[in-house]
Amino acid sequence: MATFRLGVNHGRPVEASLIAMCCVCGLVRARKTVDGEADRWISKRAYEHMYGVRLVGNPFTHTYCSGCHADFMQRMRSSRQALSHLAKRAG
Ligand SMILES: [Zn+2]
Repeated sequence: MATFRLGVNHGRPVEASLIAMCCVCGLVRARKTVDGEADRWISKRAYEHMYGVRLVGNPFTHTYCSGCHADFMQRMRSSRQALSHLAKRAG
């Protein structure tokens, strides 16, 4: 088993052969048909169905889907706010 590394590939172009998978909810990123199109995140089953491929054996890159990324940032922000709140109360 490969070990998962948590991290966001920000601004780094993902190889066309790599399939981006959300490390939180397991959704995979749909291929873009139009330049500038927003990312679409779909289930593995939907991906296989849509492109007629088997995901097993394909190289994956682990990232956050748009939903989990927003959720993650939200949590980071609120935990930071909570920390600064505590710091203020302590100080
Ligand atoms: Zn996700």
